Amino acid sequence: MTPLISAEHVAKAFPLPEGNELTVLHDVHLNVREGEVVALLGRSGSGKSTLLRIMAGLIRPSSGRVMVDGKELLGTNPGVAMVFQSFALLPWLSVQENAELGLTARGVDKATCAREAETALQMVGLEGFESAYPRELSGGMRQRVGFARAFVMHPDVLMMDEPFSALDVLTAENLRGEISDLWEQGKFPAKSILLVTHNIEEAVMLSDRVVILGANPGIVRGEVRIDIPRPRKAKDPRFAALVDYIYTVMTNPEAKVGEFSANAYTEQPLPLSRFPMLPHARVGGMSGLLEIVHELGGREDLPELAERLRLEVDDLLPTVDAAVMLGFAKVEHGDVQITPEGTEFATAGVDRSKQLFAEHMLKNVPFVNTVVETLRQKKNGKVDKEFFIDILDEHFTEAEAERQFQTLIYWGRYAQLFEYDADEEKLYRVADEPSIAPVA
Ligand code: ADP
Ligand code: MG
Repeated sequence: MTPLISAEHVAKAFPLPEGNELTVLHDVHLNVREGEVVALLGRSGSGKSTLLRIMAGLIRPSSGRVMVDGKELLGTNPGVAMVFQSFALLPWLSVQENAELGLTARGVDKATCAREAETALQMVGLEGFESAYPRELSGGMRQRVGFARAFVMHPDVLMMDEPFSALDVLTAENLRGEISDLWEQGKFPAKSILLVTHNIEEAVMLSDRVVILGANPGIVRGEVRIDIPRPRKAKDPRFAALVDYIYTVMTNPEAKVGEFSANAYTEQPLPLSRFPMLPHARVGGMSGLLEIVHELGGREDLPELAERLRLEVDDLLPTVDAAVMLGFAKVEHGDVQITPEGTEFATAGVDRSKQLFAEHMLKNVPFVNTVVETLRQKKNGKVDKEFFIDILDEHFTEAEAERQFQTLIYWGRYAQLFEYDADEEKLYRVADEPSIAPVA
């Protein structure tokens, strides 16, 4: 059976301020077939939204192509409707008018628009709110309008870009459950769903297969088939096992994903050497995490840990990454395991823990070495922020380079390796820098 949409060898690069390019997607293959729910899972910045936009025909790939019904897609994809994280409603239109929008734009007659909108609004539980305006609605109700607006199109593929991420936990769970019910009861007004999410549980709850995107650049790392019968329960041991497995994959960027399929592979070698990215974690978060793992006996299941800390995957993973990068923890089979160095760090007094942090940064993070060396070579011990931003700009977007720099300051400040003067926009060496030789 020909897939409804397929991305073939899709790559996308965006220009960087320094004249280089940022490769966001690299040789990506992805099919969506009739009757399936596909989740595209990846960390923030891995290129999920970019891939979705390319498959919807909203932006063009740098190379490769998107096939729709066996033909190459050149304009926007008429078989697609989209639900956005930000709802994207028009504030000056009523609920009814917002819901009708896509049909009106296609020149569909008034009566049909009204009838379709009525049905769709009923499906999302908004009957009685037709004449309300978005500002009068809660977030959950606004997103219901977002769904109704997509439903009226009866698309081949309904694409959702983190549709529940902007909602509070309970509202998200309710709406997710209702969407899932509509699909299971065969009432869903689309042939297929392509869901973008960074939430592992959500992907396992809703989809038939989870396609995992690796970051920097985005490649399809593989896919995991979710063969649990519906309706699904999070307490089902198979559910938990799949969530664990995907956590393991997501926390080991180099790990092979077990079930590679013809639908998901990378055959070309990766471009460039990848500049190691600092995970955006606070030192306090890292030591808090390590303390808890230590108190729990040195090892803990990641999903349990996320729940214990009331965090979402996206919030916890950078902290785990940072601990792994510094050699304070390892991740195995979906568990975080503290290393002897991590235990020492988590249990040491403030001065000692700062020293350990400095040592491990110099040993494991090459960019920190570069910074410390550069500061040492300057007589006055000061270097312009611009100097480091220029280096970062070769590897990251402008916004990401700035975030990398901020994280560097937090870490360097805690380790007492360097400080930042925001007025002068200079990094400088601190007077009582601990006596540690940088690792060559
Ligand atoms: P995700 O949805 O997985 O969080 P995105 O597809 O939004 O990721 O973005 C992937 C990367 O591409 C990010 O580093 C982002 O900054 C960059 N990016 C996205 N759109 C553009 C653009 N129009 N110009 C430059 N960089 C972009
Ligand atoms: Mg996105």
